[in-house]
Amino acid sequence: ILQPKYLTGDPAAINDFIDRFDVFLFDCDGVLWSGDHLFEGVVETLELLRSKGKKTIFVTNNSSKSRPQYQEKFTALGIPSHVDEIFGSSYSAAIYISRILKLEPPKNKVFVLGEVGIENELRGENVPFVGGTDPAYRRDMTPEDWTGLADGSLLDPEVGCVLTGLDLHINYLKLAHAYQYLRRGAVFLATNTDATFPANHSFFPGAGSMSTPLANMMGTKPVALGKPSQAMMDAIEGKFQLDRARTCMVGDRLDTDIKFGIEGRLGGTLAVQTGVNKKSDWEAEDAAAVPAYFVDKLSDLRAAAE
Ligand code: PLP
Ligand code: CA
Repeated sequence: ILQPKYLTGDPAAINDFIDRFDVFLFDCDGVLWSGDHLFEGVVETLELLRSKGKKTIFVTNNSSKSRPQYQEKFTALGIPSHVDEIFGSSYSAAIYISRILKLEPPKNKVFVLGEVGIENELRGENVPFVGGTDPAYRRDMTPEDWTGLADGSLLDPEVGCVLTGLDLHINYLKLAHAYQYLRRGAVFLATNTDATFPANHSFFPGAGSMSTPLANMMGTKPVALGKPSQAMMDAIEGKFQLDRARTCMVGDRLDTDIKFGIEGRLGGTLAVQTGVNKKSDWEAEDAAAVPAYFVDKLSDLRAAAE
């Protein structure tokens, strides 16, 4: 097994590293920022890579925002970006549905367990949906729900797919709807399957914890469209026409980002230690994945010669 190469404080190695790649895929939270706190030197590091002609693409598992919403975050934090550089798991799911699944009437609607970011991306791909942020689902089950869900009279007969993401209003009524659609043969998709996500110096239930109850009910797992799913990598490759051998994935999480890059047979993977995982995690015997390179923080790359 190759030892990961430590780049911090080694300008020659950093130059070598940068020269190997034309495209850098960046995870966002834990690499560029933590919550609403931008890490120091990130803007300058991106600027350095772009000035060397490198393409920068931002790949996030956060399903709660659409790409334009995500770009607002980049702008608010002072990171120059273009909406076309952003690739989120809700967008990944929307294009998977419209371009791969190609649901046809009379079963072309999606039941959404998730928030407005998913709805916006589905709209962008002209995919009809129900559920989501519809306030009609934000209530307790009534006796009519029990009978109408059991006999199907309360279900939309056009639903052919259930898509789960982060849903801050998850409840029994929504889970019962999703389960009935799945029982009737709907395709089971998830924007991403992260069990948790970091926020406010702690962790909270992630999108994966919304799909897991349904996976438990069905005895089958959803097709996940976020990292480390290779459906997402294929979609990125298709959209940007990138050469995998000349592409590097930069991330903080071994089980999503680094695994994503390795399974996608990218030319390289770079781990930063400003997010979830640290050196001791990839040195552990049961490491989820081992990066090819690592630094303390993204801005350590600025030590490259101009
Ligand atoms: N999912 C949610 C809901 C999040 O808020 C976050 C990070 O803030 C993530 C996933 C992980 O995002 P990333 O892939 O950018 O680390
Ligand atoms: Ca991350």
